[in-house]
Amino acid sequence: MTTLPISFEFFPPKTAEGVDKLMEQHAILAACQPEFFSITYGAGGTTRDLTQKLVLDINAKGIPAVPHLSCIGDTHESLQALLTTYKNAGIDKIVTLRGDLPKDIDDVANEFHYANELVTFIRQHHGDTFTLVVAAYPEVHPEAKNAQQDLINFKRKVEAGASAAITQYFYNADAYEDFVNRCRQQGITIPIYPGIMPITNHERLARFSRMCGAEIPRWIEKRLLDYQNEPASLQAFGLEVVTKLCQKLITLEAPGFHFYSLNQATPTLNILQNLRF
Ligand code: FAD
Repeated sequence: MTTLPISFEFFPPKTAEGVDKLMEQHAILAACQPEFFSITYGAGGTTRDLTQKLVLDINAKGIPAVPHLSCIGDTHESLQALLTTYKNAGIDKIVTLRGDLPKDIDDVANEFHYANELVTFIRQHHGDTFTLVVAAYPEVHPEAKNAQQDLINFKRKVEAGASAAITQYFYNADAYEDFVNRCRQQGITIPIYPGIMPITNHERLARFSRMCGAEIPRWIEKRLLDYQNEPASLQAFGLEVVTKLCQKLITLEAPGFHFYSLNQATPTLNILQNLRF
């Protein structure tokens, strides 16, 4: 039996029907007793109201909800309003991000540029009310000048007051091991939770990976292509790959797992069952 802390990520559905379906998935995953459910936030405030409502609704059900908050294209004033709402609702943790600016937004606020500025802003205005979790990139953020500069930029967020990090997803445990080792050499001691993306659909995974700079190793890509017309075989293969990744991460003393659930309980549950959570 594995007892590491786990958390699950949801994105806010756009329709009431989507929210109802998500609440069913939430009820299934809540039985796993996660530390929290995190709810994504569309950069530039594109999901501000949807994220806020879902955070408050999920939080009211018992297991804490953790809002994501991205700063690019948003204003001090609007983020302050959200933070106050969250504080009043007893929310005590925030995933603190820069965000990827949606391409269809022209008239953007220019008050924040990087996530470390949002960490500083929250610490200045709210002291230690919130535990701040930031993003980390074992395979290097796609916009970074180089790996070393990316690490220095990651350290800025920690020095500004972040207490934990969740990584972008990856399928190569060596990248995580190397990143954590380099962090420790830099004196960064915060827990770094691997972000785990279940594999259930090749096209969607390839699209996400192109957008966020995560690498699908060639051998995995080739195997997924073999299963183009066999979704059940693809899912079985994906489950095996991600289970083995998590087992390797346990041997590397990962402090827990954050699952990008994509609002579906079953793929994540299957992994947890394999790991005997
Ligand atoms: P930053 O830490 O600001 O880094 C962005 C880039 O700028 C990096 O290349 C970094 O090296 C560089 N940089 C950082 N600081 C400086 C500085 N001071 N000077 C110069 N260069 C600097 N996106 C959303 O829109 N909504 C979400 O809800 C969301 N949730 C996420 C959750 C997790 C766990 C992760 C890993 C990502 C999430 N993302 C989300 C995606 C994220 O917003 C993007 O990856 C974005 O491009 C970078 O965000 P960041 O907070 O890592 O930015």
